[in-house]
Amino acid sequence: MNLQHASVALKKTFGYDQFRPLQADIIQTVYDQRDVLVLMPTGGGKSICFQIPAITLEGTTIVVSPLIALMKDQVEGLTANGIPAAFLNSSLDASQSRNVEDALLAGYLKLLYVSPEKLVSQGFQPLLKRLKISMFAIDEAHCISSWGHDFRPEYTQLRFLKNQFPHIPVMALTATADRVTRKDIADQLGLQNPAVFIASFDRPNISLQVRPGQRRMEQMLAYLKERPGQSGIIYCLARKTCETLSEKLNAAGFQAAYYHADLPAAKRNKVQEDFINDRVPIVCATIAFGMGIDKSNVRFVIHYNLPRNVEGYYQELGRAGRDGLPADALLFFSYADVQTYREMFEQSEGSEEQKELKIAKLNRMFQVAEAPVCRRRTILNYFNEVYDQNCGNCDVCQHPPQHFDGTLAAQKALSAILRTGEKVGMTLLVDILRGSQRREILEGRFHEIKTYGAGKEYSYDEWLFLLSQMLHHGYIEIAYDDFSHLRVTDAGKSVLFEGKRVKLALPKPDVKKAPTERQPVLQSKSPTQSLREALFERLVALRRLTAQKQGVPPYLIFSDATLKEMVEKQPLSDTELLMVSGVGERKLQLYGDAFIGEIRKFVLEKKEEGVNIKGSTQLVTLDLYKKGQSVAEIAEARGISPNSVMAHLVTMYERGETIDIHQWVGPEEMDLIQGALSLFEAPYMLKPIFDHFEGRFNYDAIRWALAHYQKHQT
Ligand code: ADP
Ligand code: ZN
Repeated sequence: MNLQHASVALKKTFGYDQFRPLQADIIQTVYDQRDVLVLMPTGGGKSICFQIPAITLEGTTIVVSPLIALMKDQVEGLTANGIPAAFLNSSLDASQSRNVEDALLAGYLKLLYVSPEKLVSQGFQPLLKRLKISMFAIDEAHCISSWGHDFRPEYTQLRFLKNQFPHIPVMALTATADRVTRKDIADQLGLQNPAVFIASFDRPNISLQVRPGQRRMEQMLAYLKERPGQSGIIYCLARKTCETLSEKLNAAGFQAAYYHADLPAAKRNKVQEDFINDRVPIVCATIAFGMGIDKSNVRFVIHYNLPRNVEGYYQELGRAGRDGLPADALLFFSYADVQTYREMFEQSEGSEEQKELKIAKLNRMFQVAEAPVCRRRTILNYFNEVYDQNCGNCDVCQHPPQHFDGTLAAQKALSAILRTGEKVGMTLLVDILRGSQRREILEGRFHEIKTYGAGKEYSYDEWLFLLSQMLHHGYIEIAYDDFSHLRVTDAGKSVLFEGKRVKLALPKPDVKKAPTERQPVLQSKSPTQSLREALFERLVALRRLTAQKQGVPPYLIFSDATLKEMVEKQPLSDTELLMVSGVGERKLQLYGDAFIGEIRKFVLEKKEEGVNIKGSTQLVTLDLYKKGQSVAEIAEARGISPNSVMAHLVTMYERGETIDIHQWVGPEEMDLIQGALSLFEAPYMLKPIFDHFEGRFNYDAIRWALAHYQKHQT
């Protein structure tokens, strides 16, 4: 087996033209019979790494997966591409299991997904020994590590695979990259000198954005308005927030559902299914939602509250844009969230050490949210990946902060903090600086201090922005153990008493206005853009209908990326459709006619409305021809020359349409004409060939012989 086979299988089965970085190398390692450890981010394309060997090698690949939903999803995906695959887990009844086992023993399955429980169970061992196994793939392999957050005890028994089948390659895959976990996986599985592949954790198609959490709801409604009908997840910290938020969104006209661990299983399943099947676009959820969801067209992920750590943040936002199309991640952050977490962590079970670790990770998350540095750069560096450029696809890159001499502002704030005896929190401090009449101010007699009302030049939000930077630069700190009161650090004192200069980023005007960062909505759309959108919608509708009929999620029919490419290329024939990424042979066979039919219908309809799309005039001719009209009749009806009609038909034929060409050129004539082509040079002209045969063949015959020749050349 070699990579040539792998590439062919990639195109034939999945309709993809090339491997992503590392995929080919990983597959080659398996062909070389070596163990391998794969670290790739969510959406990076891990599945292909074991599916292609599974398809191309003799025997069955056993895939261990901890999540029932994921197994089902992957098996459906493979089946949709014509690959015999099945799963065995607790969701099957006895007779279903027996069917799968029969298929296995008959050697029919290329891939079998099993839960770790099933794989290690006594009952399964005799069966396993009778199979021809090409490889073991251990998905979500970090579950083996007790260091990680998804520890599954059954995973630790998987070592028996290497003991019992020392010569069968094992591939371990995970999206969790830290070093401890990595080593743990290799050790515990007993991998023998494994090849380790670490893909970049960058997800360049996801645009990253962080905004202060003030007036979140307002900001969010504006954000959602720009994304009508798009699929997205909104992560909330509290279960209650999921519910109230979803209620508010519905009241505002957005279709949303909520999901959290308190809901009965049936309800949770329904929400998940509705989301996967594009019936409900938005889900407000706790982080319980999303594990094992492979839905490729999630267009945005919003963190309504600050995530508890960078790992979680990145994993959750990674659920957006798996199809590689542009997607958005938006994070709201507020000090209140930090406080909530701290209380949560304090009260949580576990050792002091664990609590400290949690708090340290929270602080890092907070810093990532606050740093006026390229977001991607901050995050990837957090994961120890060297990334020393600015990404251009995050809010910091797009609106680089403007700095000003903030010494005076900082001094006002620092002085006020000291004068209150370091007994105020962030919001009260701002109110003091802005001279508010709040009850707490009067009660604390803070209106009597010198700096009361000294900072009216900045709005409330602007002050919060400045203070958070001062915090970030280390001039002040928050005493979490003392009601989150602010304290002036030594660095702060040197600003106040020694005149140390402070450079601060200017508050952005959009902090106040709930910004709309995407302008196109306001501009009128160009005609081609509206045409594209219209066709895309038609294809989405057809996909939904097809999915309903088949009882599978829409994205398993075709991904958004594939539909977008169809819109771009407007394939009018099988040959052309096959060139669209994501269309393999099986899907061409199953859905080709329907999708080509829809595109043709669209093109013809637009033509009727007077809008010309590339190829539409040829299509109109073809349409009439298929309805039984002769070339002369079509020319008459369309008011064009018979020559043009013929040219249209030739084009459509070359694009892959089946047309009986022998009415214009017989098989023997064709041989003669094609045989003479060596005398000429491409691109071939009709007249020299006509002259060569001294008028023996008419122009139509030559034209069709040429078209036939060209069509079968490529
Ligand atoms: P992971 O398991 O790493 O989260 P997947 O295997 O689900 O990622 O792949 C994510 C998406 O990328 C899927 O829609 C998959 O079909 C697509 N994909 C994977 N490899 C390729 C490739 N070589 N070319 C195009 N698309 C790919
Ligand atoms: Zn950036």
